[in-house]
Amino acid sequence: MKPFIYLDNAATTKTAEEVVEAMLPYFSRHYGNPSSIYSLGADSKKAVTEVREVVARSIGAKDNEIYFTAGGSEADNWALKATAEAYADKGKHVITSAIEHHAVLHTCEYLEKNGFSVTYVGVDENGIVKLDELEAAIRPDTILISIMFANNEIGTIQPIEKIGEIAKKHGILFHTDAVQAYGQLPINVDQYHIDMLSASGHKLNGPKGIGFLYIRKGIRIRSFVHGGGQERARRAGTENVPGIVGLGAAVRRALRIMEEKTEKETALRDELIRRIEEEIPYCRLNGDRHLRLPNNVNFSFRFVEGESLLIMLDMEGICASSGSACTSGSLDPSHVLLAIGLPHEIAHGSLRLTLSEETTREELDTVVEAIKRIVERLRAMSPLYEDFLKEKQ
Ligand SMILES: *Cc1c(COP(=O)(O)O)cnc(C)c1O
Repeated sequence: MKPFIYLDNAATTKTAEEVVEAMLPYFSRHYGNPSSIYSLGADSKKAVTEVREVVARSIGAKDNEIYFTAGGSEADNWALKATAEAYADKGKHVITSAIEHHAVLHTCEYLEKNGFSVTYVGVDENGIVKLDELEAAIRPDTILISIMFANNEIGTIQPIEKIGEIAKKHGILFHTDAVQAYGQLPINVDQYHIDMLSASGHKLNGPKGIGFLYIRKGIRIRSFVHGGGQERARRAGTENVPGIVGLGAAVRRALRIMEEKTEKETALRDELIRRIEEEIPYCRLNGDRHLRLPNNVNFSFRFVEGESLLIMLDMEGICASSGSACTSGSLDPSHVLLAIGLPHEIAHGSLRLTLSEETTREELDTVVEAIKRIVERLRAMSPLYEDFLKEKQ
């Protein structure tokens, strides 16, 4: 494979060496089923128990409030569908935001088809949820507020503590999709009044196909997968032991390097933003400049088609994204960029670059140079840009 520059860490991250190392024995030597009585099974069970403690401690929760899932999407589906079902006697109204990940938005659409009503609260031009609109949306039959911790496309970090306070004040459950934030930002479920939280291993240098849902003790929530008694009989199925062990190693690593990683990425992020703004005309930074994930850069370039930009970057070995991985391939502009008020044609010309702790200044030099050149070339082929230049004269 030719060398490449990976700037799509919001889509997925490289599984860290120490994570792979930790997992390997659980494919070979320690392959026992945690539910078995003999010691081979007990080894697996011990490993799962230890990770549950590590994960619980990482968010200030108790061990018996952590449920392993097959990733972020499953955790989101579970949180929404099972609370809706369990609290339907209290009401059938759910509040979420217009910029959620599709794992939440499409689950809300499913709920709407099944007799629930959903309010999609708007965001301001920087992608911050409007708190007054959120509070005004609360009705006597509202059972759940689900707002993401940080956005996967534009990196905006939401006022989670304030949202938690609003939910608590009105006696409504609060779920947060923290898939982008977990491992990047410190999180405490008590401080933020979070009742349920979704996270995913592969967004923090862990393996794919493993995640967890935190469910505060005392919440009525139904089983999501019926079968055996695993995960306190709420999510049946033999535990993904290697995945769980990998998640544990990834969480330990993320906590260990968080401070240093944040500092390094924030500096590179701000430098990348500054250089793009200085060197490429007619661009717009999407998302809040400060309330932003340390590794997220998202720009719109006028008179440029995002897909063409991505393809040409790929030819130079640069991995980037035009938005969420799930929507690329479709021709619709991102729902997040539309929600912050971008017109269709500008939303189409957007580029997301998400850094890692391994990203170097030299890589960013190469990337800025490539974007500059490609944007110029694409604009030179654009009749709209030609008209724009004529009008300007
Ligand atoms: C990636 C992502 C998900 C989905 O997680 P998976 O583990 O890939 O299912 C959900 N929400 C957000 C915000 C994400 O970035």
